[in-house]
Amino acid sequence: MRYLVGMSETVIPTPYEPATIEPKWQTRWAERGTNEARLDTAERPFYSLMMFPYPSAEGLHVGNLFAFTGSDISARFHRLLGYDVFQPLGYDAFGIHSENYALKMGAHPMELTPKNVANFQRQLERAGLMVDWRQKLDTSRPEYYKWTQWVFLQLHKQGLAYKKAAAVNWCPSCKTVLANEQVEGGTCERCGTTVEQRFLEQWFFRTSAYAERLLNNLDWLDWSPVTKQAQRNWIGRSEGAQLSFRVSGHDEAVRVFTTRPDTIFGATYLVLAPEHPLVAALTTDAQREAVREYRDTTTKQDLITRKSSKEKTGVFTGATATNPATGAQIPIWIADYVLMEYGTGAIMAVPGHDERDFEFAQRFKLPIVRVVAGPDDVADTPLGDAAYTDDAQGRLVNSGAFDGLAVSEAKRRVTAWLAEGGHGTAVTNFRLYDWCISRQRYWGPPIPIIYCDECGTVPVPESQLPVELPFIPDFKPDDSGISPLARHEEWYRVPCPTCGKPARRETDVSDTFLDSAWYFLRYPSAQHTEVAFDPARTRKWLPVDSYIGGNEHAVLHLLYSRFVTMVMKDAGHIDFEEPFTRFRAHGMIIRDGAKMSKSKGNVINPDVYMDEWGTDAFRMYLMFLGPYEEGGDFRDQGISGVRRFLDRLWASVRDVSSEGTPDADVMRKLHRTIRKVGEDSAALSYNTAIAAMMEYMNTVRRSERTPHRDELLPLVQLTAPYAPHLAEECWEQLGHHTSVFDGGWPAFDPALLVEETVDLVVQVNGKLRGKLTVPIDVTQEAAMALAMADAGIAKHVTGEPKKVIFVPKRLLNIVV
Ligand SMILES: [Zn+2]
Ligand SMILES: [Zn+2]
Repeated sequence: MRYLVGMSETVIPTPYEPATIEPKWQTRWAERGTNEARLDTAERPFYSLMMFPYPSAEGLHVGNLFAFTGSDISARFHRLLGYDVFQPLGYDAFGIHSENYALKMGAHPMELTPKNVANFQRQLERAGLMVDWRQKLDTSRPEYYKWTQWVFLQLHKQGLAYKKAAAVNWCPSCKTVLANEQVEGGTCERCGTTVEQRFLEQWFFRTSAYAERLLNNLDWLDWSPVTKQAQRNWIGRSEGAQLSFRVSGHDEAVRVFTTRPDTIFGATYLVLAPEHPLVAALTTDAQREAVREYRDTTTKQDLITRKSSKEKTGVFTGATATNPATGAQIPIWIADYVLMEYGTGAIMAVPGHDERDFEFAQRFKLPIVRVVAGPDDVADTPLGDAAYTDDAQGRLVNSGAFDGLAVSEAKRRVTAWLAEGGHGTAVTNFRLYDWCISRQRYWGPPIPIIYCDECGTVPVPESQLPVELPFIPDFKPDDSGISPLARHEEWYRVPCPTCGKPARRETDVSDTFLDSAWYFLRYPSAQHTEVAFDPARTRKWLPVDSYIGGNEHAVLHLLYSRFVTMVMKDAGHIDFEEPFTRFRAHGMIIRDGAKMSKSKGNVINPDVYMDEWGTDAFRMYLMFLGPYEEGGDFRDQGISGVRRFLDRLWASVRDVSSEGTPDADVMRKLHRTIRKVGEDSAALSYNTAIAAMMEYMNTVRRSERTPHRDELLPLVQLTAPYAPHLAEECWEQLGHHTSVFDGGWPAFDPALLVEETVDLVVQVNGKLRGKLTVPIDVTQEAAMALAMADAGIAKHVTGEPKKVIFVPKRLLNIVV
């Protein structure tokens, strides 16, 4: 095909055929290593990371492709800006998603997963992503999970991995323990089954020890605000006081945490969780039988029922304690609405200002005292059974020397006063729990721990990693609460690494979230077999410069990744503590107004669209649906507009001329477009960038004019991140022998950004009333609006204009 159109030459029009040029460029990229980063020698490293998929058998979902394409555009754009961009991708192939799917299909995950990975790989390669596939990783491969186990051992070494018997969330359908984060409204986030409580020995990571750091660093991270807020809420910092109530006739004191120490004058009783260790010691003989019965009933309940609102139940222990503020003897109760998992497992009940305490006090006829009153309340209004009040804006009443103080000041003053008397201290509390990482399932990395009768809990020596997951046919979980691996003596019986005597392996595997909590460290070193991550490569590439993923991972995955990174820093393995300098959450794609789902029959198979329209058109259409960070609605008919743009770009390259000079107006538009597409691409505002390119295309081809080469070449460069195959082909057609991605990003000339203006004469009834400086292509409506905004002109326009005479570039005459 020719690109120089001479007078006597005949051009044979070649239609744009993505089916030809897309495979051509994918092959050439692979041959030339175009997408491979210079991992050891990069001068301006830029690590562009997208959240990796779990390889479902259904194949690539259009939501995956939407997410990946947005990240890919950012990566390609940075490359054009001159960065050495590293963009890896891999598979989150371990875990319950893959295992449940294998169960459903009656297949073994060890056989099914590689097939799914291969299918995903085929679809991903077709999608034209600038991925450095040399560094691909698969979390279910021993060469990867060897290092996941190593990460576990580093945490263990730091004293941050521990085992305890705990009440855990148990999904009877998935037959596994769920982290609190995986329970939504009392049901399993994965399958929707109501979650039960079980007592099991579990491995935990001490995430709570990092709560403050995890919270504080959010102040300086460049992340989507919505994601930061989700993390702040999850970490749940609250200021309050830890207070002691001395138990009458005992040396013991009941310790409580409260965020409202200002209400202590209204604390009329205490409540302990039924499991509280003090219960047995405090209970009087008279109450012993009632307490025992109540505790038995509670044990049989699950955590969800206990947390749900229902009629309050409880039992008096017979003991009393002294309220340090009032000096009054107040009764100590036990009740299931107080949980051992929260705070200290005990509360001071303030029924005048807490709904649950109020209900409890009403039920058991306990005193209710108002200690905070709003401006309209009368301090001595009896609360009776009207309602409790919860007026944090109010002032203290019935609180001795503190009466009249505003709540916020009272909190400080009351805490200080109690501290002086030795009754408490100000403390900061966090809601963040330790991370339960044990899973009683098959499809995960075995936790590298050995139990020996002589030596106790022994970590597997690093030299003996990986602890390989064996192939067992009966991988199905059962209701016993123990891992399927525990049915295989031949696997779990091993000699103790310390003393050599018979010992047994831990049979739990670790949570999938551990696989993904460190994978970003692995990518640059994915081929290194001797270390988890090579120090030099890690220094060069990390932390990640740009991370893009779904906001559904705003809490779990991102928080765990930050935690593991902090631990690795504290252990001296890396020199940074935040893994992702910049994080942006992308939006979601819906279809014809509804969420895509198999049952609705509105799932999009990307292959079908790529076949019909080409990968470039499909990529660009996905990005054109709406703002990338908000998502959009997929409607079939929309894609033809994007395809038309690509067809026109193709035809323009075919028609291009190098003779003469480019048109001055077109060049002005070009430089404004370069600026806009650059700014929008940097801000992930892809839909507006595409709109700007389309608008420029219209200018270039106005009245079917022949475009000049200088008008068109920069447009090819602007299009490159969005439609990479087409851009490469056009770039070559325009005479280049290297990749468009090594050609840089076009610069704009600030002098050409200035819009050309003219002075417009404004008359009212034929008399000169002013002059306006307006853009040269101003419309009559815009000129009228500008005229009416000018007070000197507007004062002559009385009433509705009868007529407006507009001569472009010269005159506006308003007749009234
Ligand atoms: Zn479930
Ligand atoms: Zn031993």
